[in-house]
Amino acid sequence: MKYKAFHKLSYGLYLIASEFEGQKAGFIANTAFQVTSEPPQVAISCNKKNDTLAIILQSRVFSLSVLKKEANTSLIGEFGFMASSEFDKFKKTEIIKKITGAPVVIDSCVAWFDCRVVNTVDVGSHLLIIGEVLDSDLLSDDDPLTYQYYREKYKMLSPRNSPTFIDRQKLDAEEQAATLPAEKKAEAETEASGETGDDPYICNICGYVYHPEEGDPAVGIPAGTPFSDLPDGYRCPICNAAKEYFRKA
Ligand code: FE
Repeated sequence: MKYKAFHKLSYGLYLIASEFEGQKAGFIANTAFQVTSEPPQVAISCNKKNDTLAIILQSRVFSLSVLKKEANTSLIGEFGFMASSEFDKFKKTEIIKKITGAPVVIDSCVAWFDCRVVNTVDVGSHLLIIGEVLDSDLLSDDDPLTYQYYREKYKMLSPRNSPTFIDRQKLDAEEQAATLPAEKKAEAETEASGETGDDPYICNICGYVYHPEEGDPAVGIPAGTPFSDLPDGYRCPICNAAKEYFRKA
């Protein structure tokens, strides 16, 4: 099995939202796709541990918003990496409501679909939800965000609840094994399996990892800057969390 092969599957990034008896929930999905044109139907894959799933199963409706290429990273961090039951993701998010009554997020989005659940398929860790599109609209002609762009720009991996989650250590082991001389391969794989140093720091909110050897050139942090030397005002590039939300990876 080559885990990197899964990164060659193309996806967008979408914001799924629903509401039942006044309780809103939402999450970021990359596995959302059209399954039929007549009637227009889409499918999403939702982790059974995801708070939004329970809301969708009760309300039987959901919205699917297409994130734009330069989406607000705080929006992605909050909807993608925090729990709806512990954090009000909609507090500062602009929504509209259409036919189904599901909240439709329009911040940082180029299009949306308003859907009614018509079927579900149990696929183990996740539930595949099929929805008929009852309404939709285009919000702008901006490019949609692709998962590849997101992954390359932010050096991010899928969160643990995502259907496309791959353990970072498995990817690191593959990468090091591919780039180092043969005699170093076994050693590299051993190191990547849990014996890494303490230098990288991970954001507790979204999972972004700061690597000192790479720095954060987008905000003027040169390669080789230890986490402890980052300015006090440094923020997570994904979710905008402050430095104190980071811990040793
Ligand atoms: Fe973060």
